[in-house]
Amino acid sequence: MTHLIHRNLRHTPPVAVSAFGMYMRDSAGKTYLDASGGAAVSSLGHSHPDVLAAMQAQMKSASYAHSGFFTTDVAEELAHRLATDAPGDLNHVYLVSGGSEAIEAALKLARQYFVEGGEPQRRVFIARRQSYHGNTLGALALGGNEARRRQFELLLMDVARVAPCYEYRDRPAGQDLQDYTAGLLAELEERIIEAGPQNVIGFCAEPVVGATLGAVPATPGYFKGVRALCDRYGILFIADEVMCGMGRTGTLYAIEQDGVVPDLVALGKGLAAGYQPVGAVLARDHVVERVRNGSGVFQHGHTYNAHPVAAAAALAVQKVIRRDCLLGAVTVRGATFRRMLRDAFGAHRNVGDIRGRGLFVGLELVQDRDTKRPFDPDLKLHAAVKEQAMACGLMVYPMGGTIDGRRGDHILLAPPFIATEAD
Ligand code: PLP
Repeated sequence: MTHLIHRNLRHTPPVAVSAFGMYMRDSAGKTYLDASGGAAVSSLGHSHPDVLAAMQAQMKSASYAHSGFFTTDVAEELAHRLATDAPGDLNHVYLVSGGSEAIEAALKLARQYFVEGGEPQRRVFIARRQSYHGNTLGALALGGNEARRRQFELLLMDVARVAPCYEYRDRPAGQDLQDYTAGLLAELEERIIEAGPQNVIGFCAEPVVGATLGAVPATPGYFKGVRALCDRYGILFIADEVMCGMGRTGTLYAIEQDGVVPDLVALGKGLAAGYQPVGAVLARDHVVERVRNGSGVFQHGHTYNAHPVAAAAALAVQKVIRRDCLLGAVTVRGATFRRMLRDAFGAHRNVGDIRGRGLFVGLELVQDRDTKRPFDPDLKLHAAVKEQAMACGLMVYPMGGTIDGRRGDHILLAPPFIATEAD
């Protein structure tokens, strides 16, 4: 007998048979309200007619074109849109097939940038302890998610680490926000100097942390400080916007709200809102020009790069976001959503923090909100909450357990941008 391998090999999840708008239905006829967009993916909800029509039209014209032979109008137009709306001179777009591959491509482009600039000794990436950048070996090495890394540690490249910007847990009572931020930046500078700036390729971080912390934005000035350090020491700043990008926080790129321009940006999830598996890397002029004037070839070709149907889905999603003014809607609905959550859970003794930006919202679960004492990780409370929610017909995205020796349970809510107050 043959079987599909599920994430949990001892458990077969419900069978999804239909999905429409905010809702999914399983084969038993049960309906689920999708309050997490899967894993912060389905920003337009399910079965959006414009996206389906665009995919169908593309399938009828050219359903596949290998990027080593052809380009397509949809891929070119998508790149043009993403770059036009990106901050600064992030003018170049490389299309891949998902978030992890976007990170792999960003790491390789960053390395190639220095090799082609005559600095082949550069090999160090710096990332934050509580971070998640994907599940392929390079991306897994970069991220600090202990549970996902554990069995593969021996295979992972060394990455230098600094603390995340996690004010709720890490800012001591009485410490000024500016001093807290300055301390984090001092640690980053220390790490660059320790590695030798001439050996460092870049620093990678999620502008709003998703899967390891639950929608945690940086403190004011943090990313301005990161940008300044990267400039001072001549290293690249890579923003991982796989989860927080593409409008989820109320601006197309989350980093816009921090007022800086990264050298590279990784995208996935919301780019095609789940209609197709697609990711992208955006790069600034100076990065691409160096490779163009050097070897002329970016050494990262995959079979499905710039897949035309994926590009058509992403382009349609991008058009709907703009046409229906969804960025503004995310800001307004996000504020309403957080207010509703605070009204409902703000005084709950097991809800320590309600945070986020736009429709990217996290709840941190604690034993006691005054002491912030977390639950025992063996309880796997976040998983139990997910299970209970599913039993009630509600999809929420759980995360937690032990990450970098620290415990925590978080629930991520990332509803589609079309969600109404009633939803
Ligand atoms: N980067 C971040 C910030 C993510 O949240 C994820 C996935 O959750 C990834 C990268 C990896 O993306 P994918 O699962 O599409 O490969």
